[in-house]
Amino acid sequence: MKIICIGRNYSEHAKELNNAVPTEPVFFIKPDTALLIRNRPFYYPDFTKDLHYECEIVYRVCKVGKHISPKFALTYIDAVALGIDFTARDLQQKAKEKGLPWEPAKAFDYSAPVSTFIPITDFKDLNNLNFSLDLNGTAVQQGNSKDMIFSIETIIAYVSRFVTLRTGDYIFTGTPSGVGPVKIGDKLEAFLESKRMLACEIK
Ligand code: MG
Repeated sequence: MKIICIGRNYSEHAKELNNAVPTEPVFFIKPDTALLIRNRPFYYPDFTKDLHYECEIVYRVCKVGKHISPKFALTYIDAVALGIDFTARDLQQKAKEKGLPWEPAKAFDYSAPVSTFIPITDFKDLNNLNFSLDLNGTAVQQGNSKDMIFSIETIIAYVSRFVTLRTGDYIFTGTPSGVGPVKIGDKLEAFLESKRMLACEIK
């Protein structure tokens, strides 16, 4: 499986990192070795001194698709979760300056903690989901999927022009503002519509 991640999908977050608000979706891919499940701890890697959390809504792909039309897009996902797109911000900044790929900053091992999934049929409107992230018990990120620049339907249609979606792939849909660094000993907890979905301790 692969993990497709959308960047700069909330305008307040694009602005906080001094990026232009995009006119079409920005995406990148993390390999399956990036997955971290069952609330296992995350071990701070030695190649960064500025590891950031980015809490995101995650969808699970339930059938193979290519060139998917937006009106059928929701039939290609069956479940929703929360995830953290861990980012080595110092490496990403260097890569941006040099015009180099983001993989060292984004695709490293265990850089994608993902919660258990809930069927999408449990929610009335996927484009109105509240979610939040606490750092050591204090809310640091609060978002609603209605503020996404590109909806999940648009993301699926756009990405599937380039990359075939397969059953079991995950789609990270971008992070709202409030991203920041973590240090060893920190505890992250993510909530979807007030339900505690994910916990991750930094070790
Ligand atoms: Mg992200």
